[in-house]
Formats: sequence, C-alpha cells, structure tokens
Amino acid sequence: MMAKTVLDAFYYRKNSSIRFIVINSAVLIALTVLLYNISYTSRHAAAIAMGLTLVIYAFLTMGKIGGGIFGLVFMLGSIFLSFSAEGTARTPFYFIAVFCAAFVWYFNGLIDNLDEREQHNNLMENEIDSDRIVSGDRLKKLNDAISANVGKIENYRMLNRVAEELLSTLDRNKIVGVINKYLAGLIGEKEVTPMLLVKNRESDTFSPAVEPKKNEISQRETVNLYKKDPFDEWIIKNKYTLLIKNIDDDFRFRNLRRDWIHFKSLIAIPLFETKRLIGILKFYSEKQDVFDNEDARLLNYLGDMCSSVVENSMLYEKTETLATQDGLTGLYIRRYFIEKMDEEMKRSKQAKSSFSYLMIDIDHFKDCNDNYGHLFGDKVLKCLGDFLKENLRDVDLVGRYGGEEFAIVLPSTNSNGARFVAERLRDGFSKMIVAVDEKQGIKLTLSLGGVEFKAGDSLKLMEIINRADKALYYSKENGRNKVTFWEDLNDE
Ligand code: GH3
Ligand code: MG
Ligand code: MG
Repeated sequence: MMAKTVLDAFYYRKNSSIRFIVINSAVLIALTVLLYNISYTSRHAAAIAMGLTLVIYAFLTMGKIGGGIFGLVFMLGSIFLSFSAEGTARTPFYFIAVFCAAFVWYFNGLIDNLDEREQHNNLMENEIDSDRIVSGDRLKKLNDAISANVGKIENYRMLNRVAEELLSTLDRNKIVGVINKYLAGLIGEKEVTPMLLVKNRESDTFSPAVEPKKNEISQRETVNLYKKDPFDEWIIKNKYTLLIKNIDDDFRFRNLRRDWIHFKSLIAIPLFETKRLIGILKFYSEKQDVFDNEDARLLNYLGDMCSSVVENSMLYEKTETLATQDGLTGLYIRRYFIEKMDEEMKRSKQAKSSFSYLMIDIDHFKDCNDNYGHLFGDKVLKCLGDFLKENLRDVDLVGRYGGEEFAIVLPSTNSNGARFVAERLRDGFSKMIVAVDEKQGIKLTLSLGGVEFKAGDSLKLMEIINRADKALYYSKENGRNKVTFWEDLNDE
C-alpha cells in the first residue's frame, strides 16, 4: 500500500502538477550535469551510461514530452562527450547515444500504449459509472414501486377484510361501524368523517343511515336539509363520484352560500343498485387537499361494496317490515304483536310491575262496508290505526288483531290508568268524522274491553286475551260505544 502511494506520487499521470515537474526537472538536470561532469573529466562513458536510467525515470515521471526532451538532450550530450574522447574511446559514447535513441523510441511507444490503455480504462470506468447511475436510478424506482405496491397490496387486503365484515352484516349501524373501523387503515391517519346516506323510497329523500353524533362536523343542522344539500344534488344529477380537493378553489360550487359549507375536502360516492341511486357515501375533512387519487380509488371500491350491502339491508328491512307490520295500518300483525306482548309479560313479571291489555272492535263495521263499500272500510281501518298511533305512547304496543279488531298493551299501567286511556280513545274516535266523499262524512264508535295484569299474577297470555275478549263482548252486549274491564264483570 505504502509502496503504491510512493510510486503513484512519481508516476507522471498521477502527478502532473507544475510544481512537481519543475522540481523533478531540476533534480534530473542537476544529476545529468553531475554525470556529464564526471564523464567529461574522467573521459569515460561509464558515468554517462548510468544516465540512461535517468531517461527511463524521466519518461515515467514526466510522460512522453518530458522523457523525449530529456532523452534527446542526453543523446546529444553523449555525442558531444564523444568529441572529448579519442579514437576507439569514442565508441561507448556512440553506443550510449544509440541506446538513448532506442530508449526514447521504445518508451514513446510504451507510453502511447499506456495512454491508450488508460484512456480505454477511463472510458470503461465512465461507462461503468453511468451504468451504475442508471442502474441506481432504476433500482430506486423499482424499490419505490415495490414499496408503493406493498402499500397497495396491504390496502387491497384490507378491502378484502372490509368486504368480509360488510357482507356479514345487514344492520346499517354496523355498516357505518365497519367503515369507521377501517377508514384510517385505508386512507391513513387523516382527519376524515364518513357519512352514509340511504334513500328513503317513499319520501324520495336521503337520510343518514345512522343518527350523527353531536361532534361530527358534516351533519350540523343538515339532517332536515338533505333534500337541498347541493353536493347530494350534484351526485343525484351527475351520478358519479364527486371529489373536491379544496372547496374554496372549486369552480363548480363557487356560487354556493359559504355558511352551507362545513368542510374543505370531500369525496362523495354514489351507491347504485342496477343503475338506481340508493345511497351516497361521503367523506369530509376540515382540511384541504386531504384526499389524493389513490384515496379516491380505494373509497370508490368501498362505495361499490357498500352498494350491495346497503341494498341487502334495505331488502332485509323491507322483509322484516312485511313480516311484522300490517300493510294497511302499519300496526303490528297479530303474531308479532303476541310475541311482543309475551316479552312485555316477562319483563313485567321480572320487574314486578303491572300492565294493561285493551281490545277494540269497531261497532257495526259490517254496515259501514255494506253502505260505503269495502274500500271505504279500509280507509276507516287506516284512520283508526293512525288515530291509535297518535293517541298512544311510544312504549305502548298496538296491533291489528283481526279484521276490524285492534289490541293494545299499555306497559306499567294499572286498570285505572288503562280505563282512562280507553275512555279517551273511545271518546276521541266517536267524534272523528271520516270523509266518504267531498260532501259526506260519517262517524263510527268503538267498543273496548280491558284487563289488568297485576304484578305477581300467574296468568297465561291467552288467559289475559280471553278476559279482555269477555269484557269487549260485554261492551257489545250492553249498547256498544262502551269501555268494560274484566274486573268490572267480576264485581257484578
Ligand atoms: P259489531 O262488531 O258491532 O258487532 O258489528 P260488526 O258489523 O263490526 O260485526 P262483525 O265483527 O261481525 O263484522 C266485521 C266486519 O268487518 C266483517 C268484515 O267484512 C269486515 N272486515 C274485516 N276485515 C276487513 C278489512 O280488512 N277491510 C274491510 N273493509 N272490512 C273488513
Ligand atoms: Mg269484529
Ligand atoms: Mg265490529
């Protein structure tokens, strides 16, 4: 290593500083002059012959020009010295001059060769360098692509998990829950609020699948304004994804009232079921430029998944409604009503509280059908259904028990309270006019039978119903438009 450094320091190509050349030349000239002197005074060629090594040295330390000049000077020096000798003593000087010429010629060729090789090496080195840069670039790109793909693969894996979880749920709360759960994983820790709107087929409006929490930005006071939400309107009209990177720069909404807007960035994705818009999945952020194109792509996939899941949940809800609600009045059908009543009975037994049960039958309903037709009869039934819903508490259970018979469970209500309710219903309905046509309207009356299920009673469900039925029968038998309680029958 050390030897190489020393050699490098003297090698002409590695060390071509002017200072070195000057000092080196000076040393060579001094040595040459010394050898000339020795040779001249001794008239002997041996000293000058040693100078040949200096020629080699000159070539190696100063290259072709330096070596060539030095060789020439040395050759001329030898010829010049030959004059100082006599006769055959001149011959060695001629030999040295010839040697010197041969050296110059040989080293010229050698250095040319070296130069050529070195140039070739440099060229190769440059090529290798540029190749290395190109491959380095390629490698970097490849690495970037790999890491981007790793991210993408992870995202699609996550979408797979989302799909699995979504497909196993029919409950809209859970759909929103799943979206919330995976959102950060899909688009990173950005401050984004998701919102799922589902179309109500009857009212043709969009409402949130889940009641929004107070602190969610997107839905401040907007719940009742969905019909007019300009971004929903845009989706309904254009039927494709709306990406707003910064609402302040978005020319599409520049005329919008600013107090409408509670976000900076938005992605809204329409949810379709065979081309029919059934919902909108929205993602809001209070920051601008939160969503990039990759986010938009992933959220679109999420939207596609939600489409079928929302559709499923709608169908499920519909069949559930069909299975539990009466089509005409919207009240519970008898089977479901009895199920609910059974639950209430168990709850009352556990809580050691009482509840009351009422049965209602429209008086002379057959006549009403006969006189005004079956369709009008249906209208009366619907009116009574609405009347009952309006005049009872949310906790009360109301069912259509049979044709024109209705049943009611009043939780945590004793017979006194129930009597009060029953009287209010009887009285209220008797005053109600049901319009037959524009000119004519009729009034109808109700007969009611009631019974109290007392805390601690060991009655069976059907026994309760039978008792109320007996009380109702009593009302019918005793003039109709009347309320009777089973407890009254026993008093007599
Ligand atoms: P009351 O109860 O006062 O003794 O007399 P009513 O005429 O109401 O007697 P009833 O219970 O025998 O008649 C019930 C009628 O209700 C018979 C049936 O035609 C009618 N009805 C039952 N279901 C429906 C329905 O869904 N729509 C209509 N329009 N009528 C119904
Ligand atoms: Mg009847
Ligand atoms: Mg009747």
